[in-house]
Amino acid sequence: MGKAADWLREERRKTLGDWVAFCLKCGFAQRYFDESEGELPAACPQCQGEIRSRCPACDARFSSAFAVDCEACGAELRPPIAFGTPIRKPGR
Ligand SMILES: [Zn+2]
Ligand SMILES: [Zn+2]
Repeated sequence: MGKAADWLREERRKTLGDWVAFCLKCGFAQRYFDESEGELPAACPQCQGEIRSRCPACDARFSSAFAVDCEACGAELRPPIAFGTPIRKPGR
């Protein structure tokens, strides 16, 4: 017992990817692996916003799609206001 569950968990982790990149504008998140970092889109497929995959301060990667601060150095990874709330002016 336990071995199958371990395998399943590992399999799921592999499917999703170890790391996360996200859009600074709309919060779109994409998981990726070490070897597929080069395949990340340069711009968000949803809004063409900037995709961030590394901390701007220390170059650390993120493992959580909901990270707001860098796990390594605490730097702000994205403005908290962009969290799932598209900034749209009413009446346009
Ligand atoms: Zn976006
Ligand atoms: Zn950092």
